[in-house]
Amino acid sequence: MSISEQEIQNIVRNVLQNMGKSEESTANQASGQSKKLMGIFENIEDAIAAAKTAQKEIQPMPLEFREKIIANIRKKTIENAKIFAELGVEETGMGNVGHKILKHQLVAEKTPGTEDLSTTAWSGDRGLTLIEQGPYGVIGAVCPSTNPSETVLCNSIGMLAAGNSVVFAPHPAAKNVSNLAIDMVNRASVEVGGPENLVVAVKEPTMDVSKTIFGHKDISLLVATGGPGVVTTVLSSGKRAMGAGAGNPPVLVDETANIPKAAEDIVNGCTFDNNLPCIAEKEVVAVKSIADELMYYMEQAGCYHANDEEVSKLVSTVFVEKNGRKTLNRQCVGRSAKVLLNKIGVNVGEEIRCIIFKGDKNHPMIAEELMMPILGIVEVKDVDEGIEVSVELEQGNRHSAHMHSTNVNNLTKYGKAIDTAIFVKNGPSYAALGFGGEGYATFTIASRTGEGLTSAKNFTKSRRCVMCDALSIR
Ligand code: NAD
Repeated sequence: MSISEQEIQNIVRNVLQNMGKSEESTANQASGQSKKLMGIFENIEDAIAAAKTAQKEIQPMPLEFREKIIANIRKKTIENAKIFAELGVEETGMGNVGHKILKHQLVAEKTPGTEDLSTTAWSGDRGLTLIEQGPYGVIGAVCPSTNPSETVLCNSIGMLAAGNSVVFAPHPAAKNVSNLAIDMVNRASVEVGGPENLVVAVKEPTMDVSKTIFGHKDISLLVATGGPGVVTTVLSSGKRAMGAGAGNPPVLVDETANIPKAAEDIVNGCTFDNNLPCIAEKEVVAVKSIADELMYYMEQAGCYHANDEEVSKLVSTVFVEKNGRKTLNRQCVGRSAKVLLNKIGVNVGEEIRCIIFKGDKNHPMIAEELMMPILGIVEVKDVDEGIEVSVELEQGNRHSAHMHSTNVNNLTKYGKAIDTAIFVKNGPSYAALGFGGEGYATFTIASRTGEGLTSAKNFTKSRRCVMCDALSIR
């Protein structure tokens, strides 16, 4: 089932109407009216020491108690979704408040807790052997600016469910909203009788702070959610690390697809939170016989078809020259189509959600991960060429790819060739996060290191527990 823009708007309206008073206390903290944020330290050594103490407290507690803390995190996340969404957009300048509310709800409702931990057993004449999943201890987790509080809250649920505590390294451009989420997690724990400092960070996150975390003897696992730079850095740290890095997800449409539905799904997925999710459709590869029809329906679904002159203006706007190479203009990342068009002198109404154009596979707005609601459409002669071009555009990230087709052979061939952690068929990309699709949610997709969509089980170490010659009652 896919969710239409109208349904999304209705959900957002209901959530806004049901927001309770509890958001006021979080709002006060956000505006600095309240006392010190829980779990936020001046100094990284103090933060790590506090997380180490808290982990020693949580580890021996019954799983039922961990669940009690997690249930309260879920409740508070829903109550404060609007605050986090508004603060996130205000602080980073990126994204869409309504969609960010939905992302927080998704984290609260669909991130797995302790039920994700399983036991494997062998029982026989020589006794009973179990493989149990135990915590690493203190985890160092780097978070992006694109889903800041969403990542802090989602990681907190999964990592705490596994019995760890967490030292976060939020993005400096999203430190306020990230630190507020950290405060809320600790308050959720303390409120039900749990320890403070289960999750911590410093007031001013910097690269030096991250370096200390990456090299610290008391941190046993690193989890980096961000671009290629930070993923490569944690993977070179010498510690066990998970890398949830960049993607450039192509969506392939063949001649057997339901074209009006494909157009609507693609526009819904691409425009969700102004294209910030790493899994979102970033370019379209369409078989020539249906490409114009697809673009027609995309226009019906709220796309602006840019002409050649507008496309060149967009290129000079969304990229800036840095050290002789084109890099993304951060003032354009996560902005709406209306704002982006306005920057090149085109005024459109709120109904315009996305910008489309036809282009070559090497076009910079197609080959680069933009994180903006701009979709280049690459025409190909048939599905085989489409698969080849899509694989090239995905750039070996092995992150996400999507396809609209009713031919199972084409879907299978593409799935095998592109080999990504996420492959959504006949739906918007966000179905992969459990939003309008089956399965659990996460905001840390560790494509580079192979865990895929992470959850509590990935934040555990495997332990073999052997009882010799007893306890087997077969
Ligand atoms: P970013 O890479 O600029 O920052 C991510 C985090 O890494 C921040 O906390 C930043 O401070 C830190 N960082 C960056 N370089 C570092 C270095 N060399 N050493 C230490 N820390 C460093 O990313 P962003 O713009 O905030 O987020 C967008 C990127 O993240 C996109 O490429 C997107 O695809 C990716 N992303 C991936 C996932 C996933 O689950 N795979 C999820 C969200 C975002």
